[in-house]
Amino acid sequence: MSKVRIYTLAKDLSVDNQKLLEILDSLGVSYKSVSSTLDEDTVDAIKGILAEESAATPSAPTDSQAASQTPAESTAAPQLQSAPPTPHHKDDVTAPTSNSVPSTAAQAASGQVSSAVAVQEAPPVQAPEIPHRAPVVTIMGHVDHGKTSLLDYIRKTKVAAKEAGGITQHVGAFEAQTSKGRIVFIDTPGHEAFTTIRARGANVADIAIIVVAADDSIMPQTREAIAHAQAAKVPLIVAINKIDLPQADVERVKTDLTSVNLVPEEYGGDTVVVPVSAKTGEGVEDLLEYISLTAELEDLRADPKGEFSGVVIESKVDKQSGVLATVMVQQGTVNVGDFLVVGETYGKIKALMDSAGNRIKSAGPSTPVQVLGFSEAPVSGDKVASASNEHTAREKVSVRVDTRRTVEEARQKRKLSLEEMMGP
Ligand code: GDP
Ligand code: MG
Repeated sequence: MSKVRIYTLAKDLSVDNQKLLEILDSLGVSYKSVSSTLDEDTVDAIKGILAEESAATPSAPTDSQAASQTPAESTAAPQLQSAPPTPHHKDDVTAPTSNSVPSTAAQAASGQVSSAVAVQEAPPVQAPEIPHRAPVVTIMGHVDHGKTSLLDYIRKTKVAAKEAGGITQHVGAFEAQTSKGRIVFIDTPGHEAFTTIRARGANVADIAIIVVAADDSIMPQTREAIAHAQAAKVPLIVAINKIDLPQADVERVKTDLTSVNLVPEEYGGDTVVVPVSAKTGEGVEDLLEYISLTAELEDLRADPKGEFSGVVIESKVDKQSGVLATVMVQQGTVNVGDFLVVGETYGKIKALMDSAGNRIKSAGPSTPVQVLGFSEAPVSGDKVASASNEHTAREKVSVRVDTRRTVEEARQKRKLSLEEMMGP
């Protein structure tokens, strides 16, 4: 028998995905998403567990067929027929399985599967199903070229003022409302921008803005920033800043860009270059427009109904409220009351705020959200998963701990055997 995807199996067995994931957690089977595949042994084990559960629950739907044959004995019937001699045999639980597999596979191929699924593993054919999401942008460049000033200008002009009139704290990200839609900016100082563009191997940012001062041109950290953007394979846009200065030399910057293989469009290349001034605001509207155009070409999508995943952007300990972490929602939706797993700890979300400090109940893809409820400050760049209850959260943590230990042990063994090989 070939491998079967988790969501397909869930459908076949008439249980929800979450239920199957809980069983997989309890079996210690690792998975990436509901579109991960399971081998036959695992499928049998799952069916065994479900059979045992339905034996304990008289009203289980799998009993309905048998029950209808003996309507008067509905209470006795389940116990009788759901205690087969070999409860782990796959034919016992779900007769329709074998012939329903092809049809669900066909459904999957035709894009009828909901949820997050397609984001991680499924073929691109399913993409049209998944809604667009706002682009996440990071700003990098040489020191003093105007990164902070540019972000401040955009924040001042494009972020709706907080209703309560409170002070907007620095939370490492903000959302700008533009005529072309929402754009999310990651606002982390200096080198942290490099980690957030590529946290734990996965991109947080979709687009990198490389800021180059028009009076200074390309400097060592400009090259470094370009290299990081290229390594992360995100499209980059060059913002030539400080064009208000009398000594600004935009043409020189463009020529210098060519020498690092970023040929501006007007020179026949494909690098988007936008002259701006963070001081006067000139060109900033154009920059936002180019960001939106680039995002459109990237066709960024994420399913708000899919499995939640996010990345820690920043965290700090607030004397009054405790640990406050900014998490970028990458897919799925996070809700007050959910359990979040990060690193090897978990916490229950007590409150959520948007990046402007307004209380919210839930947040979907491409939303930087402030989370209150972690017991210790998570590390920026850490991946965040969610769980609907404490049990699942604890299981997820223990899977992470086990995985780490296994990796460490394997590393230790390798080291020992290497030492042996080297001899005394
Ligand atoms: P960062 O180190 O890249 O974050 O640079 P900053 O935003 O801190 O800016 C460095 C200096 O350049 C500050 O004194 C800013 O006021 C100034 N600056 C930034 N952008 C502009 C601009 O567009 N025009 C002018 N004239 N000065 C700017
Ligand atoms: Mg700065």
